[in-house]
Parts: sequence; structure tokens; C-alpha cells
Amino acid sequence: MNTFKELGLNNDLLQAITDLGFETPSEVQDKAIPILLNEDTDLVALAQTGTGKTAAFGFPMLQKINVESRTTQGLILSPTRELCLQITNEMKLYGKHLKGLNVVAIYGGASITEQAREVKRGAQIIVATPGRMKDMISRNLVDISKIEYSVLDEADEMLNMGFFEDITDILSHTPKDKNTWLFSATMPKEVSVIAKKFMNNPIEITVGNKNESTSQVSHEYYLVSSRDRYQALKRLADANPDIFSVIFCRTKRDTQKVAEQLIEDGYSAGALHGDLSQNQRDLVMKSFRNQQIQMLVATDVAARGIDVDDITHVINYQLPDEIETYTHRSGRTGRAGKTGVSMVIVSKSEVRKIKSIERIIKKDFVKKEIPDGMEICE
Ligand code: ADP
Ligand code: MG
Repeated sequence: MNTFKELGLNNDLLQAITDLGFETPSEVQDKAIPILLNEDTDLVALAQTGTGKTAAFGFPMLQKINVESRTTQGLILSPTRELCLQITNEMKLYGKHLKGLNVVAIYGGASITEQAREVKRGAQIIVATPGRMKDMISRNLVDISKIEYSVLDEADEMLNMGFFEDITDILSHTPKDKNTWLFSATMPKEVSVIAKKFMNNPIEITVGNKNESTSQVSHEYYLVSSRDRYQALKRLADANPDIFSVIFCRTKRDTQKVAEQLIEDGYSAGALHGDLSQNQRDLVMKSFRNQQIQMLVATDVAARGIDVDDITHVINYQLPDEIETYTHRSGRTGRAGKTGVSMVIVSKSEVRKIKSIERIIKKDFVKKEIPDGMEICE
């Protein structure tokens, strides 16, 4: 494995890396950074969540743009507002020694006028969700005709969420000879379609195989009858008093209900789903990040890609409809070399899904019993 210096990063970026405490490049960084720095190429990079993709495209982009110019040169598209803000923050940290750097986040649910104003001040890099970006373009509030580097982050998820047409529309306003860097955890057909449509002979890299990349996470399932689901959740929380966890539900309604019930029962919990206002979502994310709440109850869409350090447990209160989604969920824990546990509360009627998941993650689940004993919070 190379050092960051050997990858060819300049001193301003190396200083930021030291400030951040990153010691060695992760595998995707080791592979992608030299290619993106040295070659004028499109890239498709497949790597699971938590493997350090933001820095893999972020550092090369920061090194290649001209911060003395106010022209928008880099465009990063990502599926959700939370991710958009997270990437923006990371980019600012990575580029903190680059004088004049301006990274602007563009996402729905916040003032478009304010975002337009920030762009106008001269943003070399825009990090955007597709919907709002398209809106800004159609209103002539942003000029992306000089883009040199575009990133499609979490491409599989953006396509899952139905952003294909928005992405097509946005990219049609960018120069043909720009470079496009696509990052994705999985490579479903839709992603290959987009790669073919928008990319020119991309270099492809794949990081780890699925066997290894999930190896920091152990998987457990708890068989309960459907009506005991909530009770089981409380027992699991009681048995792990230091739990710092994301709890996944299938619907916004269940998410809200479980969170409210937990709070009512004296647990430290919050809800994250799409029916909440932007402000509410920001607040709950902030308290979760600061570990002021221990259990974040969330939908898949709202929690996708969220990178919070030190999550000890992922709890599947209900299994997702799409089995592939399980990988995204369990990837919230066991990040940056730490271990984590992904727990599934499952009823008899869906227990066969566990087998299908085992095939996908290429790991076995451990069947466990719900711990009994006192419920501290009742
Ligand atoms: P991904 O986009 O692949 O899910 P992120 O880019 O969000 O992953 O990175 C996951 C976490 O790992 C972040 O907290 C990030 O700061 C941290 N990280 C990234 N690269 C390194 C590194 N080389 N050394 C240590 N930590 C890193
Ligand atoms: Mg990411």
C-alpha cells in the first residue's frame, strides 16, 4: 500500500490529511487517486459503503481544479440532502488549506435564492442533489458549461430513487469533454446503462470482494412472532446499554411510530424519514452525530450513505423489500476498521429471506435468542 504522498497529492492536501489523522490510503483511494490525478479519464469505481470513496474522488478533484478562478469546474451529484451536506463538509475539510476554495451545496428543502447567491459568489465545486440541480439549471441560476470533472456518487442509489432523467438533463448542460467519475456500491444494470451512456471508455476499479468488505460486521437474527417485534427491540436495547444504533423500518409511518414509542418508553431515540421537514431532519442528524441520541430510527432512503462514526449496531426492525438493501443497511456499522453487529428481528413468515441474504453477503448469520430479564426502562 502506498502512502498518501506516494499517490501524488500536493502539500496542501497532505497537510489536511495529517490534520484529519488519516494514516494510510484506503484501498479505493490507493487505486483511484493516482489514476484520477495522472490520467485524463473517465472512471467507474465499485466499492462498498465506508471504504472512503469521498476522499477517493475529493482529493483528485481538489488538486486538479484552479482555485484562483471562480468558475465552477467540479460537480458532484449525490442522492440525498444529508449526503450532499456530508460531502460538502468533507470537501471543505480536505481543501481547508486551499486559499479561495469555495464548495457549495445545492439541495431541495432549503432556500434556492440563498443557494443561488452562494453559487454566484464563485463556487469552484458544487455538490448537489439531482432534483434541485435541475431546477437551478432551468432557472438559469447556475452555469455548469465549464465543468471539467463530474462525479456520480452512490450512482446505484440515485438511479434507484428515479433520478435517471434528472441526471441526463443535468449532464446535457456540461461539456462533452469533461471527465466523469462514477462511484457505486453495486453494479446493477441501470448503472452500466448510465456508464455506457455518459462515459467514454472508463477505467474500472473494484475494491475488495463482498466477502471481505463486510467482514468487520457480524450478522445475527432473532426469530420472534410479529406482535413481539417492538418488545424484542427494547430487549436488545436493554441488553446493550451503550448501544449507538440505526434502526431500520420499512415505512415512514413505522419509522415515526417506533421512534415515538421508544421515546415514550424512556429510550434515547429519534426519527429520520422523508415526511419530516428539512429542519427537523438536520436537527435529528445533528443530535445523532453528537451521540445525544443513541438510537436513530430511519427509513432506507433517509439513512442511505449517512456516515456517522462508531455506530455499534444496525438493527433491522423489519427486513427491506429488496434484499440488496440489506448490504447498505449493515454497511452503516463496522466502518473505518471497527467492528459492528447487524441484527435482524424476523418473524417466521420471512425467515427464509435470511438464507437469500446469506447468499448475497456470502456470510452466515448467527441465530440468537432475545435476551430476557428486566427491562430497564419500564
Ligand atoms: P464511503 O463514501 O465509501 O461510504 P466515506 O468517504 O464516507 O465512505 O468515508 C468513511 C469514513 O472513513 C469517513 O468518516 C472518512 O472520514 C473516513 N476515512 C476516509 N478515508 C480514510 C483514511 N484513509 N483513513 C482513515 N479514515 C478515513
Ligand atoms: Mg460516500
